[in-house]
Amino acid sequence: MSKGNISVQAENIFPIIKKFLYSDHEIFLRELVSNAVDATTKIKTLAQKGEVKGDIGDTRIEIKIDKDAKTLHILDKGIGMTEEEVNKYLNQLAFSSAEEFLSKYKDDATIIGHFGLGFYSAFMVADKVDVITKSWRDDAPAVQWTCDGNPEYIMEPHSRTERGTEIILHINEENSDYLNDWRIRELLNKYCKFLPVEIKFGTKTETSYEGEGDTKQEIKTEVDDIINNPHPIWKMKPADLTDEDYTSFYNELHPYSQPPLFWIHLNIDYPFNLTGILYFPKLSNSFEVQKNKIQLYSNQVFITDDVKEIVPEFLMLLHGVIDSPDIPLNVSRSYLQSDANVKKINTYISKKVAEKLQSLFSTDRNSYEDKWKEISTFVKYGMISDEKFNEKASQFVLLKNLDNLHFTLEEYKEKVKDNQTDKHNKVIYLYANDPATQHSYIAAAKEYGYDVLEMDTIIDNHFMQHIEYKGNEVTFVRVDSDTADQLVQKDEKRESVLSEKDQEKVKELFSQSVKNLGLGHVELKALSPTDHPVLITRPEFMRRMKEMQAMQGMDAGMFPDSHNVVINSNHPLISDKLLKMESEEEKAAFATYLHDLALLNQQMLKGEALTEFIQKSLTFIK
Ligand code: ADP
Repeated sequence: MSKGNISVQAENIFPIIKKFLYSDHEIFLRELVSNAVDATTKIKTLAQKGEVKGDIGDTRIEIKIDKDAKTLHILDKGIGMTEEEVNKYLNQLAFSSAEEFLSKYKDDATIIGHFGLGFYSAFMVADKVDVITKSWRDDAPAVQWTCDGNPEYIMEPHSRTERGTEIILHINEENSDYLNDWRIRELLNKYCKFLPVEIKFGTKTETSYEGEGDTKQEIKTEVDDIINNPHPIWKMKPADLTDEDYTSFYNELHPYSQPPLFWIHLNIDYPFNLTGILYFPKLSNSFEVQKNKIQLYSNQVFITDDVKEIVPEFLMLLHGVIDSPDIPLNVSRSYLQSDANVKKINTYISKKVAEKLQSLFSTDRNSYEDKWKEISTFVKYGMISDEKFNEKASQFVLLKNLDNLHFTLEEYKEKVKDNQTDKHNKVIYLYANDPATQHSYIAAAKEYGYDVLEMDTIIDNHFMQHIEYKGNEVTFVRVDSDTADQLVQKDEKRESVLSEKDQEKVKELFSQSVKNLGLGHVELKALSPTDHPVLITRPEFMRRMKEMQAMQGMDAGMFPDSHNVVINSNHPLISDKLLKMESEEEKAAFATYLHDLALLNQQMLKGEALTEFIQKSLTFIK
């Protein structure tokens, strides 16, 4: 037996390990099982190269709990270590890297879990750790290394003859949780579910049947419980996979979800290594933000489901897995953002997604249009937030009109430009965000032969602004923002049939009944006699300012809810009937009634005002 001191500069690093990593204790299991997987992969490689004589046999990793002894065991049949190697890897190397890491990041409050502290993370949960190991080299005897959380360790010979390593954790009092089967199973499921070597944890009962009819017998057998799937499909070649493979894997990741719309299999070796599958989920029309739906792996070891820095923000809506050994894990978030590989990965993923969408669009436009409702959020959000994506997506982003027809940006401009170009040479794109409520405005716009788009999702406001900003010589205007004749401002203007004096009179009559205009006003316009006598409009600019203000969570002070009341001086009810009424009361009542009708059309007549209006109407009918 020999004794020695683990070579570190700091007198005792264990208290730091325990204290510092307090919040993320559970990663110890991931670290130890990953080491076991590495050792197993290495023996397989040596066997392939013919360096190991004979058959390497079964290479399953096993996790065991001994409740009485209060120990947790991780056993592998990997390459093992000689005494010399234990010295080198556990006594010096491992520790010095841990120490270096800790001294570097001790003061960095932004650091969050997810770094490999490797073997020494065992001391977060164990008072004492034994390593019993036998190297694959025939001439190397087994050794046992023991350390009880001091820089002091003991190394002694061991009787083990089988190749491989057993790590024994003497779990401490505070962490006795890790002696429960369910807890270990939970951790294995979270971190080890797709590790490339089979991992056994206990046994399970399998039921099979023998015989037929009356002689049919139920047979129960105890079999090893393998907790992982060592060959996840993201590691396979797309050519070897069917649609069903992809959808069933999706189910494995996200049980009880609706089937995905489509997916992208990522696979790149250079300039960085990355595999994975990204699924486009079925999103409802409302913009559901679903976080933590993409899992990040490094060589099939689960790292995190918080991939904020690695995946472009707009693609956080996707589901699936990304596996890359090239994403640095031992660092703080702020560092990750500036990491060159992470940036490249970001760009790569965004490019792949654009290519996939482009190919869906070009190969089967009908089916692309069918899915448009569900993918439009990704595409629009992506265009707004990612310049490169914007360039590509300009070719396949679609606008949908109220007749349910879809157009690319180019097609749409071509369609409306003749009839909808205004006097400033801007092409006006009319839209409705609530077609049911805006029905009369839509009808009026159609009278002018205008086309009306449907823009009814939360992202649309930003998207329209984005399209305008991108200098397409296009302006979006909501159908209720002005009277139909003014939606697309042209030079010609209709003459009013009323004299200046009569116009003043009409305006005055209406001004009395009008309330709560905000920053809006009452105005007289010479519209067609067939247009409505009174209309409510919400000028585009004011409305947008208000929407922006609401979006930023500001008080409704600066831009109150505003609308204009437009009176059609050419409508016979105004030009004839109203002005010819005898008493002033009668005129005022009639003006109020017409105004109420316009409000009703906009579902703006409510409460007492609505009741009064109904009463008045009933009296009229009598
Ligand atoms: P890392 O795995 O990042 O290299 P660790 O501290 O986890 O750091 O381990 C240090 C070294 O100890 C490993 O690189 C490996 O050489 C050796 N080692 C750890 N666990 C095992 C094991 N189960 N079998 C063989 N060697 C191991």
